[in-house]
Amino acid sequence: MKIMNFSAANCKSCYKCLRSCPVKAIKFENDQAEIIEDRCIACSHCLLICPQNARKVVSDLSDVKKAIYSGKKIIASIAPSFAGNFAMETGKFVNVLKKLGFSFVEETAIGAEIISDFYMNYVKNAGEGIYITTACTSVNYLVEKYFPSLVDYLIPAVSPMIAHGKLIKEFYGEDSYVVFIGPCMAKKTECQSYFNNNYIDAVLNYDEIHQWIEDANIDLDSMNTQDFDRNSASRGRLFPKFGGIIQCMGEDLKKQNLKVISVSGSDECIDLFTSIQNGDINNIFVEASSCKGSCTGGPDMVTGNHKYYTKLENVNKYLASRKADAVNNISISESNIDLSRTFIDKSFKRDLAFDYDIKKILQSMGKHTPEDELNCGVCGYNTCREKAQAIYEGMAEPNMCLHHMRNKAESLTNVIFEHSANCILFLDGSMNIIELNPACEEVFAVRAANIKTLPVSILMDDTDFKTVKETGVSIIGKKVSYSNYSVIFIQSVVYLPKQDILMVSMVDINNQEENRKKFNLLRENTLNSTQEVIEKQMRVAHEIASLLGETTAETKMLLTKLKKIVETEDGE
Ligand code: SF4
Ligand code: SF4
Ligand code: SF4
Repeated sequence: MKIMNFSAANCKSCYKCLRSCPVKAIKFENDQAEIIEDRCIACSHCLLICPQNARKVVSDLSDVKKAIYSGKKIIASIAPSFAGNFAMETGKFVNVLKKLGFSFVEETAIGAEIISDFYMNYVKNAGEGIYITTACTSVNYLVEKYFPSLVDYLIPAVSPMIAHGKLIKEFYGEDSYVVFIGPCMAKKTECQSYFNNNYIDAVLNYDEIHQWIEDANIDLDSMNTQDFDRNSASRGRLFPKFGGIIQCMGEDLKKQNLKVISVSGSDECIDLFTSIQNGDINNIFVEASSCKGSCTGGPDMVTGNHKYYTKLENVNKYLASRKADAVNNISISESNIDLSRTFIDKSFKRDLAFDYDIKKILQSMGKHTPEDELNCGVCGYNTCREKAQAIYEGMAEPNMCLHHMRNKAESLTNVIFEHSANCILFLDGSMNIIELNPACEEVFAVRAANIKTLPVSILMDDTDFKTVKETGVSIIGKKVSYSNYSVIFIQSVVYLPKQDILMVSMVDINNQEENRKKFNLLRENTLNSTQEVIEKQMRVAHEIASLLGETTAETKMLLTKLKKIVETEDGE
């Protein structure tokens, strides 16, 4: 199931998401961003950074509400970074969650603590080697998909979230409903994975909880406080801090003959894993998280509004406050639950382009020489060659190169501007000439270099131009005559308000006018001639008619006479 992607309607193909994606798992087709699941490590940075908020994330909130209404036992497992994200007293927060419908509220730190013990036992038994912690789902995906040769170095333990889910189901029963509440979307994908096996039923992010609290109109001021339903010792609460896992493992880890490294941020993780993969670093225990500042920073660290140090301060205050009243009412050491899991090679097949293909693709982006390869990163790829490889794999399109598109547009515009038979003129908002093309130079007998920046009124009447600027209504196809230059134009004037520029295009219709005049004369002559012919014909017709009339009368007279003669002869 696809948990996260982009909504087609909102994407404006700015490539900010791709620039922020550490593994370039976003495909662009027809100017639309799409997350390719096989390549994605679920860090969610791209979704948070999108300026158009073009995100589409599957939410479990309605399922959680349904579970509440159905009367199930609902248990919240709160990630240890919560103290940095909810500006209210912890006891109040617990009570707010109860008010929303949760039956019990616990800290995921309980799971973190038993996972740190698992790590320690594993390291103690295995001895020297390379170890990578597995609390961060994105880091797990990063290793499985991009560094498969390091899969065996991942400590084979479930995440603190799943460890806690198992503890909860064991304690509250299999029919209880466990909701993990945390900072990252990667946990949503982990919840869907086969090894979760329904220990976690739903995942809600802090944003979803903030929204739910707001929608429920809860009066926070009047809320009482209450403690978590079960508490662990405080070590697990260190997990969300940078270096917190190593700190949580304490002295025992220091006794091992291992270097320890804490690394946060996907790019830093990639850097370290590359060194390990190359065999440059050995005998090391790595605490890795894909968000800068670990879970306290959270995915928000990619946005400009992360407030990392405020969150860290709040987490530290919370840790200090709990030390005093640390109550351990869970005997987790006695738990027999299975915390192990396996990691597998999830690398995907990449078609690597030959140099010949790369050159061809670069040429399709107008990059014919090494100097043309600007490697500016605007398209989302670090180099033009990386981008060419992505095009080869079907992940990108040539038109994503801004420089290529600009050059293309400029050269097309230049060809039209320079070679058009029509006059084209650009004016600024104050009716001064910005640019005019060679056709204009010829008709108005001026040189562009001499006339630029001067008022257009020195060439022609500017009344129409001013009207278009004032009203914003274009004049299209108006016939105008500039008698000083003996020209007649069909003139169009368009105002571009954003640029405060007027574009005037003038189609010379002098020849058409001449032809029209000639045609009118010809038509007039033809009409006159036709009229003459008609009149002549009428005259002839009349004459024929009158002649016919005369002869008819004479014939009638003769026949009458003849008839009378015949009648007379008969009567004798
Ligand atoms: S950040 Fe990505 S998804 Fe958002 S508008 Fe830009 S290209 Fe589209
Ligand atoms: S979630 Fe992370 S890995 Fe996946 S596409 Fe977005 S930025 Fe890339
Ligand atoms: S020049 Fe173009 S292809 Fe090269 S990195 Fe910049 S935008 Fe990408």
